[in-house]
Amino acid sequence: MNWQQVFLLEGKVQHYDWGGYEYLPQLLGLANQAQQPYAELWMGTHPRGESMAWKNDHPIPLSELLESRPDWLGEGVVAQFGPKLPYLFKVLDVRQMLSIQVHPNKAQAESGFLRENQAGVSLSASHRNFKDDNHKPEVMVALTAFWLLHGFRHESEIARLIEEVPEFGPLKPYFARKDIFELYKGVMEMPQAGVDAILEPLDNRLRPLAEGGALRKEQPEFWAARAFEQLMPEGKAYDRGVFSIFLLNLVRLQPGQGIFQGAGVPHAYLEGVNVELMANSDNVFRGGLTTKHIDVPALLAHLNFEAVTPRILEGERLSAAEWAYYTPAPDFQLNKIRLSAGEFYQARVSDGPEILIVIEGAVNPVGCQAFTRGQAFFVPAGHVYALHGMEDSLIFKALVPSLH
Ligand SMILES: [Zn+2]
Repeated sequence: MNWQQVFLLEGKVQHYDWGGYEYLPQLLGLANQAQQPYAELWMGTHPRGESMAWKNDHPIPLSELLESRPDWLGEGVVAQFGPKLPYLFKVLDVRQMLSIQVHPNKAQAESGFLRENQAGVSLSASHRNFKDDNHKPEVMVALTAFWLLHGFRHESEIARLIEEVPEFGPLKPYFARKDIFELYKGVMEMPQAGVDAILEPLDNRLRPLAEGGALRKEQPEFWAARAFEQLMPEGKAYDRGVFSIFLLNLVRLQPGQGIFQGAGVPHAYLEGVNVELMANSDNVFRGGLTTKHIDVPALLAHLNFEAVTPRILEGERLSAAEWAYYTPAPDFQLNKIRLSAGEFYQARVSDGPEILIVIEGAVNPVGCQAFTRGQAFFVPAGHVYALHGMEDSLIFKALVPSLH
């Protein structure tokens, strides 16, 4: 075993405003005395946050390492996805809710990207929708209790909520035919004065309830009140994304549970820590709870208006130590490894590149240096390795699903 075949990876921290102050600094062993928000840790080759790989005691960008050794991506991966890492791996700490978003499918991304290029829309323009020609499916697994919005609720539940929330009277005509598309389009195209006329009284009613601790996280009202407080301070326009807090399924994941966001499924992360794995893309349409550009016609064209029952992924057991969170995405697979102190984990030989991160404990790949909590490492395609648990350990592994 040549230890140089496993590379320590230094991820890139993104200090977005919505990030938490403690989880990621603690994971990475940093003090964070300046109380900066630590939102995301990125592991991959994304140009806005590339990881550094340590080779012969020197850090080099992971993309450079892979350019010098395309065989480390694996022949099949290069043939299907091109000579680059097909995924981006993250740890997220959501303190303040994120925008509502939806991602296009592959065919939509390819034609949309081409269309905007031909129309001469600059890649950096704020109204540019397609940043690349790829889809962006995402899978995530909760590390703490995790709250999110995911897919439209069933029509009967939406009807009940419109009935129950007194301020939503004006929405009833839009849902007369129990058509989610009609209702959502109506809400998204409503003049701002109409939005304010509904959300201001809702804000006024919910605020004292929230302050008095009378709302529970299981209620959309809790998150609506939080949105008013966090995103719409006095004097700021009401954000119509608040309606989606009621229209979408409110999901709570327990640690170890996962969920997959496929193309067209609206979603928003509300609170919690997770590991997330996604295809290499920046294509996103926003649907509110944001100050960023919202292109309503494009949003409507890419949303799936079918009601969904959220499918919680428990992870399929592969061995005594490993679970897989299977999804339909060909670009990536997320596995979990649990090792007790002294146990060994023999990895299956993968024909694609892998990135592993130690979330708890410490492991050493046999013949290698040890990797401790917060450290990540890159394993080239085809490399045979085993991990030895130095303590009780929790590791997440990003890989490419077998191509055959
Ligand atoms: Zn997303």
